[in-house]
Amino acid sequence: MAKQAFDHWQPITEDDATIAAALEDADIPTLMVALVHLTGDLSGLRGDIRPVGGFMAAPQGGLTAAQQAGVKAQALEVLKAYRDGKGLLPKVPDEAAIRQMMNFLVGADLPGEYIPFLASELSLHGEDPFGQPAIDAIPREQRATLKTIIIGSGMSGILAAIRLQEAGMPYTIIEKNADVGGTWLQNTYPGCRVDSPNHTYSYSFAPKDWPQHFSPQQVLLNYFDQIATDYKIREHILFNTEVVSAEYQDASANWQVHVQKTDGTQDTLTANAVITAVGQLNRPRYPEINGIGSFDGPAFHSAVWEHDHDLQGKRIAVIGTGASAFQFIPKIAPDAADVVVFQRTPPWVVPRADYHADIPEGKHWLLNKVPYYAKWFRFLSFWQSSEGLLGSVKKDAGWQSDLSVGQANDDLRVMLTEYIRSMVGDDPDLFEKTVPKYPPAGKRMLIDNGTWLTTLKRSNVHVVTDPIVEINPTGIKTASGVQYDVDVIIYGTGFYANRFLAPMQIKGKGGLDLQRHWQGDPRAYLGITIPQFPNLFCMYGPNTNIVVNGSIVFFSECEMRYILGCLALLLKTGHQALDCKQAVHDAFNKTIDAGNEEMAWGAPNVRSWYKNEQGRVTQNWPFTLREYWEATRTPDAKDFKFIDAS
Ligand code: NAP
Repeated sequence: MAKQAFDHWQPITEDDATIAAALEDADIPTLMVALVHLTGDLSGLRGDIRPVGGFMAAPQGGLTAAQQAGVKAQALEVLKAYRDGKGLLPKVPDEAAIRQMMNFLVGADLPGEYIPFLASELSLHGEDPFGQPAIDAIPREQRATLKTIIIGSGMSGILAAIRLQEAGMPYTIIEKNADVGGTWLQNTYPGCRVDSPNHTYSYSFAPKDWPQHFSPQQVLLNYFDQIATDYKIREHILFNTEVVSAEYQDASANWQVHVQKTDGTQDTLTANAVITAVGQLNRPRYPEINGIGSFDGPAFHSAVWEHDHDLQGKRIAVIGTGASAFQFIPKIAPDAADVVVFQRTPPWVVPRADYHADIPEGKHWLLNKVPYYAKWFRFLSFWQSSEGLLGSVKKDAGWQSDLSVGQANDDLRVMLTEYIRSMVGDDPDLFEKTVPKYPPAGKRMLIDNGTWLTTLKRSNVHVVTDPIVEINPTGIKTASGVQYDVDVIIYGTGFYANRFLAPMQIKGKGGLDLQRHWQGDPRAYLGITIPQFPNLFCMYGPNTNIVVNGSIVFFSECEMRYILGCLALLLKTGHQALDCKQAVHDAFNKTIDAGNEEMAWGAPNVRSWYKNEQGRVTQNWPFTLREYWEATRTPDAKDFKFIDAS
């Protein structure tokens, strides 16, 4: 399949009334900025109509109904003229104009560093935002000499394959499952949906007309499934095959990868490079509770949902109130006799009215047809869901509180507490249980359209905060001696996120074992390369996760661009392998640790899957997404030692 055109939009053929109706669903600030591409007129962004940005900004940036009507009326005239070919063609504004448009849209003065980033995101000249010029510069026949094994065919593995294929580089994907999709294939629990906005949780080169802002699991699975088919990735995948171990070969400076198929047969494959694309959240974690396993009824984990049990009229115990339980409890509660929710720590809940809503028809039209509307919408979504929130989750020097890490974080705490009060304030016991006692963004904040807190108020839903001491044949006992007899237990207890790359046994130079080397403290340079493990590249590796809901797809695209740059370095220099220098890796990790200590998720009173047993944040990237984009643009040859086969 040909590369996606990055400046693609459909022609407008509809009549005036249809355009006017579609404009009723417009995000007005986005529309105002998109119109500049047609009119070249920035005066509308200088006037008295100015959206107010920021976290939980009012709908339409707080513009009045009259202001919105004025913009829509003007937009109708412009779009009619564009449709009728009256000299209006999409234009690329100059840098100063782009800056003005960007600042207008987000309601803030962003530093100049955002200009190249935004220009790339917008593909203003039809460029591929995550293309790697260094690999393009290598002759195609030379690229074909370097073979890569990709482990995993989820979101990152499919991306790696597409990029290698585009570059004309041979690869094989090893996939333990029977199909592609990774987390979206495995997690089938009721209510599963993406909780990052879909217009950023998608590949830059494959925009989709998403049915919802936060689409359900099946839609996500179909997206990745379709892309794997369209890009002809499937014929390169060994399905039902698990990587048992991978060993770097000192003599030949390449990798041997040992695999086992579900039928028990084994094989060994050889490649110049290995890309791990196994995700962080796919090995279910069951809690360490006395008697686990003794329960007589069905008991299963959210990530391996057992759909054959009829939950109707059943007494159900759910352990955990993380992102997964948060989505499936509201789905199972209406039909259950009772749901007992065992909550250790409540999540912070961020209100978002359109969390489950369909994208209105008019908005689909705008996204598909108005030049640059979709691109600016993606940037706004990126800004509002992640980049623009970082200031609210950062420490203030000298701030002393267990409830917040700074003034902006405390303002956020108050705002979110008021939301909880507005939903359950009439039930003091539930209010007390649902207001977290740790800083917002200490753990992942969860998006709610009222469903979660309304569900907890149901008469058949009981939130138990008394700690569990035992699981027994009939149910669960808590510390105060209360026994909860139930028919089913569901574990919403998360994943072994910290065991990066486990259970694979990975050996680097001199047979160095990766897990023993890490000792429970996984680290990598840029989350991608690990000293003494030449030509091993991680996607979604250590410290590449995000807490405020930005897109992991964005990180993967950055990582793959960097990996291609590394492969280009090998081809350019003629060496067989590259090995990250220890000092470079260590200095990077020092910066990461210092950064994470400044953030809410680094607060000492917060326990989460972001930290290892020593309390170090092994999972998260503490800086802006733009900074990761910048850091991973092109690898610096000086960061590596180059190795030749002996
Ligand atoms: P999680 O966030 O790790 O939540 C696990 C829950 O189980 C927590 O509430 C935890 O309490 C509780 N728990 C663990 N051991 C327990 C015990 N012994 N007794 C009582 N409670 C116990 O796991 P998750 O909900 O599966 O989510 C993991 C991550 O997956 C999310 O952070 C997110 O990144 C991703 N995810 C994304 C989506 C989405 O995009 N839609 C959906 C689901 C998951 P404590 O908080 O006290 O440890």
